[in-house]
Amino acid sequence: MPCSSLAENKTGNTLAARLARLGLRTDADYVLHLPLRYEDETRITALEDAQPGIAAQFEVEVVDSEIAYRPRRQLLARVRDATGALTLRFLNFYPSQQKALQAGARLRIFGEAHDGYLGPEIIHPRFHVLLDDAPLPDCLTPVYPTTAGLGQATLRRLIERALQREDLTETLPAGVGERLGLPGFAAAVRFLHTPPPEMAQAALESRQLPAWRRVQFDELLAQQLSLRRAYPARRARGAPRLAPSLTLTASLLASLPFRLTGAQQRAWQEIAADLAQPHPMQRLLQGDVGSGKTVVAALAMLQAVEAGHQAALMAPTEILAEQHYRKLAAWLQPIGLEVAWLTGSLKKRDKDAAIARIGAGATTIVIGTHALIEDRVEFARLGLAVVDEQHRFGVRQRLALKEKGQFAHQLAMSATPIPRTLAMSYYADLDVSVLDELPPGRTPVTTKLVAEARRDQVVARVHEACRGGRQAYWVCPLIEESETLQLKTAEETYARLAADLPDLRIGLVHGRLKAAEKAAVMSAFVSNEIQVLVATTVIEVGVDVPNASLMVIEHAERFGLAQLHQLRGRVGRGTAQSTCILLYARPLGELARARLKVIFETTDGFEIAREDLRLRGPGEFIGARQSGLPLLRYADLEDAALVEQARAVAEDMLRDAPELAAAHLKRWLGGREELLKA
Ligand code: ADP
Ligand code: MG
Repeated sequence: MPCSSLAENKTGNTLAARLARLGLRTDADYVLHLPLRYEDETRITALEDAQPGIAAQFEVEVVDSEIAYRPRRQLLARVRDATGALTLRFLNFYPSQQKALQAGARLRIFGEAHDGYLGPEIIHPRFHVLLDDAPLPDCLTPVYPTTAGLGQATLRRLIERALQREDLTETLPAGVGERLGLPGFAAAVRFLHTPPPEMAQAALESRQLPAWRRVQFDELLAQQLSLRRAYPARRARGAPRLAPSLTLTASLLASLPFRLTGAQQRAWQEIAADLAQPHPMQRLLQGDVGSGKTVVAALAMLQAVEAGHQAALMAPTEILAEQHYRKLAAWLQPIGLEVAWLTGSLKKRDKDAAIARIGAGATTIVIGTHALIEDRVEFARLGLAVVDEQHRFGVRQRLALKEKGQFAHQLAMSATPIPRTLAMSYYADLDVSVLDELPPGRTPVTTKLVAEARRDQVVARVHEACRGGRQAYWVCPLIEESETLQLKTAEETYARLAADLPDLRIGLVHGRLKAAEKAAVMSAFVSNEIQVLVATTVIEVGVDVPNASLMVIEHAERFGLAQLHQLRGRVGRGTAQSTCILLYARPLGELARARLKVIFETTDGFEIAREDLRLRGPGEFIGARQSGLPLLRYADLEDAALVEQARAVAEDMLRDAPELAAAHLKRWLGGREELLKA
């Protein structure tokens, strides 16, 4: 098979390959490939009216042209019209272009004039030779997003052809467009591809234009339709009814040293009702750090057990799993339940024993890490899978736990608040309960920004707090590019603090410690044998030590907003006034400065998440790139009103006009719908 690699190479660069790179396959794809901006070729500007820096079209005659060699090889053509003259300069050119620019040729050129060396000039104008009196186009010329090797002229031709071929029928049910004040589909896309010349370009490029609004709406609608379609599919599947008998849950509630907050009460009711349904629950419990998600999860797990099933809780780190284990064991063992513990660090014998008891159904409540989803772990009758800090797991891992039970219900928990619009768009197949209230008696955390130069004062502050019986976290600088370097820095920070604070007991915890060592340090901190815990971001999620009232974050400027918020949430859990000190080093980049400002001014997790979204963009925010969700091209998820309208229309359409919904999805997603099912 000679030349096969060559042939492959070639196909990688064919027109089709370039078009595919832009996602252009069907006529509908072309129709929805909308201009970035426009150029006005409907008018001819006289050369004397050329304005520097403003692109315009001129009609000229070539006076002469030559190849000049100074400062480097280039093609220069002098042109004129009745009002003035101009030089065209080409630093790269083809022989065919040189030939076209012969003296006497009449040209239409488009470009921005500048004052050059030899008077006014245009560098690399677009031009074509005028043979007869070619008519001027009667609409503005669209400029499309493109890729290397694919010219605007080709794209325009293909799009124009598709606009004629593709059937631009309306996919919105009658009356919906009028009610929402949106133009029809055909009119909107025709307008955007070929706008009339009297339209001001600034207005055209404004995404508030009704035609753009229509396209944005349609895009959001396609997303909603696609996600919502998964919903009835899930409801059609079966799951065990886990009806509440209120025996175990009532015992837990009676034994707790606190009462549920109103928000916890509501969330629990929502979950309890879902679990009693004969189809699988898929619910996200969202609540800021410290809002008390664990007890809600415990109640849900007890409902599963009451109904004769098992429940499992998976956490992303050993530290967190262990903490959940301790807390749940303390709550549940007194009411007579066995709580099992399964992580990678267990001795083989203990692990085998735990797996055997889970398989036999002897243990009803299981807490663990990724170890829970290993192949050899089998549950006798898993009824509920709880995943804590769900954003820390990949999609596949999240599903894996649920699939340990043939028809298990799933509860995901997250302390990274996802703005409502994002949650609605990306998780349309997920019901959401929100804990929007913190347990009473919390004192808000005071945040301070302190320059690195004043580190000594911060150390003195730690000393004072610990002498007064409180405890402190000291978070080491984040070094993303090297774990080894990160470890080294953590050890140095530890050594330095130990030297600065000889009368305090200081511990160090980081990701490289063996699980047992980590657990030993953590339990020493919980029992106040250690007063200052030096830590890398392993403590970011979930750690709960109410006596710790001071948190120092070194090089806070390197952390992301969500991370800072999570870290800060480790303090302010008891009754003492708590403080979070953000040590930062200059110079501060613009983004770092913006992040520190947000975290300094705001403690509301949802507000912080919104800012995070604004600073980073939705793709980064939600890990959508990894999950394969197509990002929106025209619409903006923060456009809450439009998202809400799309959602409502999607619901109506799936119920009343399924054939329109199918046509709409086909137009927008073609065969790519499977990507949305993550
Ligand atoms: P998170 O939502 O961050 O996971 P936790 O479940 O760890 O929060 O709860 C934080 C702390 O608040 C824990 O010590 C927990 O026992 C306590 N807590 C939870 N609910 C209440 C409540 N209603 N009243 C008082 N304290 C509560
Ligand atoms: Mg938690």
